[in-house]
Amino acid sequence: MALAFDEYGRPFIILKEQEQKTRLSGLEAQKANISAGRAVSRILRTSLGPKGMDKMLQSPDGDVTITNDGATILEQMDVDNQIAKLMVELSRSQDYEIGDGTTGVVVMAGALLEQAERLLERGIHPIRIAEGYEMASRIAVEHLERIAQKFDFGPTNIEPLVQTCMTTLSSKIVNRCKRALAEISVKAVLSVADLERKDVNLDLIKVEGKVGGKLEDTELIYGITVDKDMSHPQMPKQIEDAKIAILTCPFEPPKPKTKHKVDIDTVEKFQTLRQQEQKYFDDMVQKCKDVGATLVICQWGFDDEANHLLMHQNLPAVRWVGGVELELIAIATGGRIVPRFQELTPEKLGRAGLVREKSFGTTKDKMLYIEHCANSRAVTIFIRGGNKMMIEETKRSIHDALCVARNLIRNNFIVYGGGAAEISCSIAVEAAADKYPGVKQYAIRAFADALDAVPVALAENSGLQPIETLSAVKSQQIKENNPHFGIDCNDVGTNDMCEQNVFETLIGKQQQILLATQVVKMILKIDDVISPSDY
Ligand code: ADP
Repeated sequence: MALAFDEYGRPFIILKEQEQKTRLSGLEAQKANISAGRAVSRILRTSLGPKGMDKMLQSPDGDVTITNDGATILEQMDVDNQIAKLMVELSRSQDYEIGDGTTGVVVMAGALLEQAERLLERGIHPIRIAEGYEMASRIAVEHLERIAQKFDFGPTNIEPLVQTCMTTLSSKIVNRCKRALAEISVKAVLSVADLERKDVNLDLIKVEGKVGGKLEDTELIYGITVDKDMSHPQMPKQIEDAKIAILTCPFEPPKPKTKHKVDIDTVEKFQTLRQQEQKYFDDMVQKCKDVGATLVICQWGFDDEANHLLMHQNLPAVRWVGGVELELIAIATGGRIVPRFQELTPEKLGRAGLVREKSFGTTKDKMLYIEHCANSRAVTIFIRGGNKMMIEETKRSIHDALCVARNLIRNNFIVYGGGAAEISCSIAVEAAADKYPGVKQYAIRAFADALDAVPVALAENSGLQPIETLSAVKSQQIKENNPHFGIDCNDVGTNDMCEQNVFETLIGKQQQILLATQVVKMILKIDDVISPSDY
């Protein structure tokens, strides 16, 4: 602090910037960081696994989200602490690269931090811990490759893919109809996948939802949906082999731009005017029919008279379709958007195998399904559900299932879930630790203990005795030399995850271990935290 005077001789105080900051260094910094990271991981721990709890989050503007998805929980939590933000980032990276396992990765990172804290207390240098963790993570990742199993599937044999997606969905709120949703996800991915190049473009899968109906009514549409209906109730509800005119011009006579007055003083004049107007409509409808259109999709509206005429002329039409949807329809059906009737030609028509209007139960809601489009393999997953929260959560769960199916198409190796893979890795890392002399051995062993955190959390969340269950499963794995044993969360009666069909993808599990280790190493290497003092 220093006293200075301005040009008028008034005194003021200069506060050096450093003095406004708080600073933590050395062991104190590491411990503070570790406890921040662990706090985040503790929040997610209870929502891991099929019996995990859900979280309800309220946004500042009052929107409520109920979810079980780790990435979403962290995304919506307003965390201030920098280290906590790193954990949020960790979950996001897992979501971005793999799409599933976002809770598990944070739980694992939390466990690694907890073990690191113990080692720090015993006086082991953070760099040694970081090195040991790195080595252990490599051992674990290699071990996973060894225990992974190849999964054969094809367009006709989708059962293995469905089973893996079901494992992902079983821990979500939607697990009531996991079978149906898993099948929908797998079919959606397979219909846009290029199996030869092992490539899947998930952008071609649109996930839409509409409140109403039941979750079981969720369906896969081989095409796109538009939230509109036919403009006249008597128009056909189903058009096969549709040739679609996509118009941005209105179905009405042109309006003069200036204000004007029309004097009609005789009946004849009125009738001429009327006939002219009718002829105008007739010409427009005829033009559409001449080029071969069997359906008109129009950005603008048309009045009742035009609507009636269209119905009479047997030309189904849809009005007030938004610009974005219009573009989507044009891309999918290979058509061109036509701004003037004169420009309409047969080549500009879009094509779709089937266009149908679907009504939902007793409600007035109707939607248009444009299926088997000419140009695109795009599919839509159309979710139904009792309320908006349910639909949003189903969207998130389906995203996870889609990612799992995509990952399996890219790399068809799986490991066993329910903590089986983690227990097996823990045994392997523990055994490897003995080979390393020096302090690193402790860190490697600590890593093995941290791997147990996932099965322990799964057991705890399912109401089982965590330590007893873990040790029983671990000794079973060692005795039978079989990495299939995990935690029987659903009390099925067997803890052989192969029998229970609980699978996870190899790349997902490997990524979890790698990402968690990286973040923990990063946190351990921070030995100075400088932040503004109001934090
Ligand atoms: P994440 O967001 O990490 O995927 P989840 O809440 O989906 O977290 O939980 C996934 C964990 O639950 C995985 O470890 C998986 O193996 C396990 N799991 C899923 N289904 C079962 C089941 N039926 N029995 C035992 N464990 C299961």
